[in-house]
Amino acid sequence: MTLRLFNTLTGEVDLLAPADGVALRMYACGPTVYDYGHIGNFRTFLQVDVLRRFLRLTGIKVRHVMNITDVDDRILHNAAEAGVSIREYTAVYEQAFFEDLEALRVERPEVMARATEHIPRMVELIQKLAAAGAAYQTEDGSWYFRLAAFPEYGKLSKKDLSGMEDGARVDLDEYEKDSARDFALWKAAKPGETSWDTAIGRGRPGWHIECSAMAMEYLGESFDLHAGGEDLIFPHHENEIAQSESVTHKTFARHWMHVRFLLVDGRKMSKSEGNFYTLRDLLLKGYKASAIRLALISVPYRHQFNFTFDGLIEATSAIERLRTFRERLRMGVFATGENPALQASAKKAQAEYLAALANDLNTAEARAPIFDLLRAANTAMDQGLLLAGDRDAILAVLASFDAVFDVLEDRDAEATRRALEWAVQAGRLSDVAPELLARQGLTDEAIDALVAERSLAKKQRNFARADQIRNELAEKGVVLEDSKDGVRWKRK
Ligand code: AMP
Ligand code: ZN
Repeated sequence: MTLRLFNTLTGEVDLLAPADGVALRMYACGPTVYDYGHIGNFRTFLQVDVLRRFLRLTGIKVRHVMNITDVDDRILHNAAEAGVSIREYTAVYEQAFFEDLEALRVERPEVMARATEHIPRMVELIQKLAAAGAAYQTEDGSWYFRLAAFPEYGKLSKKDLSGMEDGARVDLDEYEKDSARDFALWKAAKPGETSWDTAIGRGRPGWHIECSAMAMEYLGESFDLHAGGEDLIFPHHENEIAQSESVTHKTFARHWMHVRFLLVDGRKMSKSEGNFYTLRDLLLKGYKASAIRLALISVPYRHQFNFTFDGLIEATSAIERLRTFRERLRMGVFATGENPALQASAKKAQAEYLAALANDLNTAEARAPIFDLLRAANTAMDQGLLLAGDRDAILAVLASFDAVFDVLEDRDAEATRRALEWAVQAGRLSDVAPELLARQGLTDEAIDALVAERSLAKKQRNFARADQIRNELAEKGVVLEDSKDGVRWKRK
């Protein structure tokens, strides 16, 4: 079974196999840890997870590297505002990112690499670019990539860059999507900003150079696949190619996979638009982690996907059906033997499932035969026609489905419990759906936090909120006593 996957570089659906015949070497751009990730970000990480799991299911080893961008304009700005070091600032969001990956069952890449821990590699690369005439230093001490030195610039995004202005520069980490400019490799230190003292001067890296340096460090000068969200095609990935190939004169990544956007009401879900949900937002609303995973992977990566709560509800009930079905198969007592019709159905489902994924990771088509099998087997069980051999064959199909989809084991309560713990610590209890609090039972910490929030609301003369909290607690059997020493509470 070989995977055919759309390749942004060739514009075609190409075979994907390890060049060395041993392990598929892949690099996926990771998060910028300046805030909590939103589910648009996680759509991309989940689709890459589908890719790696499918490769492994077909017997291919994977060496997957992901960077963590822990220095950039926003991080420097936010850390300075909070009066902490960038490491202290990013540690919180890096940790949150790992927790979110775990809740969504996204497998950890083999290598996770922080930008700040690879500064010497980036400096080396910039020196090589300078030696090749592809980088120059400006008066303030910053370094830029000379676009004119790389005539193939634009080959990934297929942009016509003929109108580009020679020597026009840009130093923002992210910039306008349609203008090609010499871009910053290294930014000279600004007073008060975190910086590194290096052979090319005191400063800090631009955003793009980290991925070239770290990809080549862990995967070699030329590797199999590079992935990211569609917004990274230009300029980020185009710049990675320019930086890397100007030095090596080898193809940087042979295959480029880009996950299309998660949209809300037809617009890209993004921090700057303010139209985003974090994973935590959804867990606190009472949606299950497995349902969020299934919803985010069920629309194939080549399609943009409009996020809706109906989609989450659909995913929740799909998972319910699958879990109930598996339980019924596991617990049932069946006579020995095999029913040839069911054996054929199981084989067909397995073949169609694998074929759909092998065809450009078509997760939507991959789901369909599994539910066909579920219906056929449930009917057979109702009629007493399912035999022990069929059970084993069908469980094997479910196992192969779950090797990629990973939603059958119920670990949802754990993910929700953690999100609630976080909400207590982060003072976000007001975002928790009341049904969820009721379902989980109120912990002492949650009550303390709500009581504190009520006192604050009263101080701010927000009596509506204060009363709402008193009533919510009363409904759950917690009574408050206001006294001159403060508020005491007890459970009825
Ligand atoms: P960032 O943390 O902003 O660097 O983004 C992490 C990853 O999420 C990148 O691969 C982005 O391309 C991707 N991404 C950002 N927004 C979306 C979205 N709305 N839908 C899908 N992927 C996204
Ligand atoms: Zn990158």
